[in-house]
Amino acid sequence: MELKGLFLKANNELENTGNLLKSRRVICRKCAKPVSVARIRKNSFICPECGHYFQVRARRRILMLTDKRSFMEMDREMESRNILGFPGYEEKLSAAKEKSRETEGVICGEASIGGSRVCIFAMDGNFMMGSMGAVVGEKITRLFEYATDRHLPVIGVTVSGGARMQEGMVSLMQMSKISAAVKRHDNQGNLYIVLLTNPTTGGVDASFAMLGDITLAEPGARVGFAGPRVIEKTLNQKLPEGFQKAERVLECGFIDAIVPRQEQKEYLDRLLKLHGF
Ligand SMILES: [Zn+2]
Repeated sequence: MELKGLFLKANNELENTGNLLKSRRVICRKCAKPVSVARIRKNSFICPECGHYFQVRARRRILMLTDKRSFMEMDREMESRNILGFPGYEEKLSAAKEKSRETEGVICGEASIGGSRVCIFAMDGNFMMGSMGAVVGEKITRLFEYATDRHLPVIGVTVSGGARMQEGMVSLMQMSKISAAVKRHDNQGNLYIVLLTNPTTGGVDASFAMLGDITLAEPGARVGFAGPRVIEKTLNQKLPEGFQKAERVLECGFIDAIVPRQEQKEYLDRLLKLHGF
């Protein structure tokens, strides 16, 4: 068991998530009980003691949602560069690659779900908090263009702290670039289903995460633009109970359904069949 950092309290849901698979047991951040990683894995990465949802890596997420051995990855070779000369960005990218064992913050490709062909992307919270830079934006845009050409539905799993500040305006531009690709996909009558996971915030929430034809979320996922601490300080008032939690966002009409992790693949399969795929 890795003891380093065990008692550190994470400031954000996307911090201190990288050690899960390196240890045999972890302390659940919700119930504070030690739980074996093998049990968590078997239970779809949900704490068997209290039902807390652990972060799931993008690649694992795709495996959990798609048919066995059906996933074919696209654009894996695309990697970010320090286009603005932002101090320390190269080091951050190297650390993110090591921590996530991925080359960027999103994985895209084609797969099948219950035998239906789909395009799928999954963001990775272990890669610089799932932030969106030029490569994340380009990979998702290309996936939508590929899906539009072939009339394929797109399934998107989001987790993100928002735009990647080290890429400044270039990162913000990805919001409109992806949104335009989603619109072209939509204009052809194609289906786009989003699964919001904890947390989906910032520029990702304010663009393609909210543009699905059907918007699903994991129980308890935080969904919103600015963080609650920022809003409380700006407005100088206490926010209501459950603010930005998926259950509250569902009541407000921004989410169509909250789907437990163990049921997500079957749920997507049903939605695809309902739409004639
Ligand atoms: Zn727990």
